Amino acid sequence: MGTEFANKHIGCTVHNCEHHCCGEEYCSLDKIEVGTHEADPTKCQCTDCLSFKLKKG
Ligand code: SF4
Repeated sequence: MGTEFANKHIGCTVHNCEHHCCGEEYCSLDKIEVGTHEADPTKCQCTDCLSFKLKKG
């Protein structure tokens, strides 16, 4: 179940995330953490939203 709150400063299209605003393409958190799984990141695909949490159900 997502949330109705949309943080207009954080656009997001990851609908599988529990923090996604189910009504619009935004995150519902006040702040997110972005990181990387690469030793030497060179493109956006190297970065990850570390605040991602799999939506239940
Ligand atoms: S926590 Fe990250 S992946 Fe989840 S809705 Fe927010 S920005 Fe998107």
